[in-house]
Amino acid sequence: MITLALSKGRIFDEIMPLLAAAGIEVLEDPEKSRKLILPTNRPDVRVVLVRATDVPTYVQYGGADLGVCGKDTLIEHSAEWGAGRSGLYLPLDLRIAQCRVSVAVRSDFDYAQAVKQGSRLKVATKYTAIARDFFASKGVHVDLIKLYGSMELAPLIGLSDAIVDLVSTGNTLKANHLVEVERIMDISSHLVVNQAMLKLKQAPLRRIIDAFAGAIRPAD
Ligand code: AMP
Repeated sequence: MITLALSKGRIFDEIMPLLAAAGIEVLEDPEKSRKLILPTNRPDVRVVLVRATDVPTYVQYGGADLGVCGKDTLIEHSAEWGAGRSGLYLPLDLRIAQCRVSVAVRSDFDYAQAVKQGSRLKVATKYTAIARDFFASKGVHVDLIKLYGSMELAPLIGLSDAIVDLVSTGNTLKANHLVEVERIMDISSHLVVNQAMLKLKQAPLRRIIDAFAGAIRPAD
């Protein structure tokens, strides 16, 4: 049995053409079903639904053989585990669920001036490793405030000066009167594979990896 860990939403929707290329069709809609283990048309392949941030953990411990998650999630996971120590193999950038990690502030906050003055910035984020590295590389002193969601709220109620969050269309920032002031990095989702499982189940896992590789859409 091959177990693939996915999260609901954009990643689930955008992985479907790649799964189809591997001859895999998920038989239930996760938006309609409450099931956490979804069958596929292939009796030897099943999908487990987990939070995006849990995908590397499930794959690392062998709860799933492979999974799909954003580079943001992988960076935060490897900051916790140390790169190369988690037993994860990352063979493919799948070029799906593309977005960016950015710094945003209230439209009335003078970010450039605060940085120039060497002020200590309060930054709210779920992405503490990415934020810490970015501000350290700029020589900006920050107090990081770890949040798990609704980051956009933090500057609006004075919890922080800035946020570091994923931005796609920019509509969420705009709706909350926030502006993007720095683009930290581009993000897309990657295939993550358990290295030990790859040895144990080499042929079926390789077939899936190769089919995904052949179906990745070319760079824009
Ligand atoms: P947008 O309004 O299109 O810029 O989307 C921003 C909101 O969607 C933020 O709350 C982000 O955390 C979230 N978001 C955007 N892109 C992604 C992605 N690829 N994966 C997960 N969350 C995302």
